[in-house]
Amino acid sequence: MHGPSGLLLEGPLVVPTTREVVLSGTHGTAVDSTTGEGAVPIEAGQPVIEIDHVTKRFDDYLAVADADFSIASGEFFSMLGPSGCGKTTTLRMIAGFETPTEGAIRLEGVDVSSVSPHKRNVNTVFQHYALFPHMTVWDNVAYGPRSKKIDKTLGKGEVKRRVDELLEIVRLTDFAKRKPAQLSGGQQQRVALARALVNYPSALLLDEPLGALDLKLRHAMQFELKRIQREVGITFVYVTHDQEEALTMSDRIAVMNSGNVEQIGSPTEIYDRPATVFVASFIGQANLWPGKQIRMDGDLAELSVLGTTLRARPGDTAIEAGGHATLMVRPERVRVSVDPPEGDVATVSATVTDLTFQGPVVRLSMDAPDGSPIVAHVGTEQNLPLLRPGDRVHVAWAPEASLVLPAADIPTTEDLEEMFDAPPES
Ligand code: ATP
Repeated sequence: MHGPSGLLLEGPLVVPTTREVVLSGTHGTAVDSTTGEGAVPIEAGQPVIEIDHVTKRFDDYLAVADADFSIASGEFFSMLGPSGCGKTTTLRMIAGFETPTEGAIRLEGVDVSSVSPHKRNVNTVFQHYALFPHMTVWDNVAYGPRSKKIDKTLGKGEVKRRVDELLEIVRLTDFAKRKPAQLSGGQQQRVALARALVNYPSALLLDEPLGALDLKLRHAMQFELKRIQREVGITFVYVTHDQEEALTMSDRIAVMNSGNVEQIGSPTEIYDRPATVFVASFIGQANLWPGKQIRMDGDLAELSVLGTTLRARPGDTAIEAGGHATLMVRPERVRVSVDPPEGDVATVSATVTDLTFQGPVVRLSMDAPDGSPIVAHVGTEQNLPLLRPGDRVHVAWAPEASLVLPAADIPTTEDLEEMFDAPPES
């Protein structure tokens, strides 16, 4: 198989794990991605995109504050956060539609701050993908390579080879002769993907691409997108406000809040070990209680919280004795029992205030003696008797299942509703 610039590839991937740099030289001028002239190999896992202390202001408004991270070759990287947190602006700076106020953006090692969008070897897929309505699916996908005349530079039949290959990958070979209007929303989105991938970009930038699809299709497309990304091996940079989407697909996620990157990590790291109260409440559900650190006790911290003293796993930010802190416990880690629990657990008594059947679990809302709310997601394996509001119970968790976070305002229900509000249609 031949990839861009005639590189000999092995296996079924359309893109080599070592591929040519399309932006070359120290002056940031682009070279033609179809010829790969002046190319330098990029190893898999090396940074493809470097966001180097990037700040973006719109007049006085700080949209992105000192973002500083890299995205590796072949990575599925998501930028996740509520509406207005700066994720689209960051993506637009990578694409070249916005210029950083401070800092630099490097693509494959080259500063592209002054390179126009069409000369950057990245492609963007938007929520409202504009397919050419009068062209067939095949011609829509062939449009880019035909305009670049790759049959002339890379040999006759290259356009056909690439288009057929991409249609196979997005599973639309049988739909090649249809027009976009004869396709479902999900199929149209896959045409848009094939069209964006057919030029073998260094990275594909996706801005809420599933936002226009209904929930069921969105779920199906999440798996499709991940499969396609694995198959082509191209770096995907994905913008979403939907935590489930980011957790399902990403190798790493950057969680953004008010222009700041609060944490970057794998979905598991971010869920198990959030760095801040914001991340803990934006990703999944969390019990968050204000407290004070008393001291360290071996590997665990001792906290004054919920009107008692509990041990907990310390977070990444060290908190001094006497310092304010927040204790986090995920609802599925909370055990509920009628009798006092045994073993080395953190435990408090509580009064049931509400029960909601949620299918796999019952959401049990309770009050601690100091009035703090406690939520537990109780599965059938906990074998609880039928409970009613007003019943007295004991809640418990392993100290290792809890986490000490830096003190911060704990979001109210209204705050959370606002955070998870879908962004307005653009
Ligand atoms: P959403 O999910 O709603 O698109 P976002 O996290 O992608 O949100 P951005 O589009 O990056 O947010 O916008 C970040 C902030 O910068 C917002 O408050 C927005 O109003 C502001 N902003 C974005 N573009 C401009 C612009 N061209 N001029 C002025 N302000 C802007």
